[in-house]
Amino acid sequence: MLGPPGSGKGTCARIISKIYGIPHIATGDLLREVTAEGTERGRVAKEYIERGELVPDDITIGVMEERLSEPDCDEGFVLDGFPRNLRQADALDRILKEKGMSLTHVMNLVVDDEVIIGRLSLRRSCPQCGAVYHLKNNPPKRDEICDECGAKLVQRSDDTEEVLRHRLEVYEEKTRPLLERYREAGLARDMSGDLPIDEITEAVRRVLARD
Ligand code: AMP
Repeated sequence: MLGPPGSGKGTCARIISKIYGIPHIATGDLLREVTAEGTERGRVAKEYIERGELVPDDITIGVMEERLSEPDCDEGFVLDGFPRNLRQADALDRILKEKGMSLTHVMNLVVDDEVIIGRLSLRRSCPQCGAVYHLKNNPPKRDEICDECGAKLVQRSDDTEEVLRHRLEVYEEKTRPLLERYREAGLARDMSGDLPIDEITEAVRRVLARD
């Protein structure tokens, strides 16, 4: 999944994970877990995440290599938030080659910055099971409580407007160039990241079926 923060990568990745029965691997979630380890790499990752910067490649690539070597990844996986720069894209090519796999689709979500800012300021997520809500468009049934597991929902500290604007700049500078690479390889497919929630699954199916 490619696209700026808040473009709906997580939502689409969860749908693809269900359709194909393959794991959804969200690099941001894995890195947030690392921050709770009490290790040096966790301390560094936390610092970068809070500033809205990309976590250094040695940490991020290491975390992804560990995760992708687990047996549930042997039949495929959907990546949400990786790669985010050219060095990570090279690392992904190497990891896939070692696994005897290749990229089949790169889905690029397209949304305006102002829509993203409105959306993420109302995003809440479940610290326990990872479910994601929007207080207006996709609210939990009970006020700020996760429908799936009953935990109290939280707002991510990097979803404040100031950090978010910086994350959008980082996306433009570091991640958008990947699109060119995947377009040249004939893998990239655009999809609107601003569809009504009940139309997303059908749109994902259509984009994946398109040749
Ligand atoms: P996300 O949950 O995908 O919005 O990611 C949240 C934060 O985690 C980002 O702003 C970065 O600080 C960090 N992060 C996630 N994915 C990566 C990546 N591929 N490379 C470096 N940092 C990342």
